[in-house]
Amino acid sequence: MSDTPAMPEPGSKLRTLCFNCEGRREFVVPRAAFIDGEHGTAPEVKPCKICGGEGWLDGIQPPV
Ligand SMILES: [Zn+2]
Repeated sequence: MSDTPAMPEPGSKLRTLCFNCEGRREFVVPRAAFIDGEHGTAPEVKPCKICGGEGWLDGIQPPV
């Protein structure tokens, strides 16, 4: 047997950490809100639609 460099698992694809949610699969949208008359922010957590909630993107996806 020759020394073979570690190969990627068959079927595994090059993937890139989602630049939008940074792999968290969701992202927080800061929203201005008035709560009881007080001005503040009510962050809203939404599933990342860039990666479809996977946290990863297929192939090389350069950050925009
Ligand atoms: Zn994402």
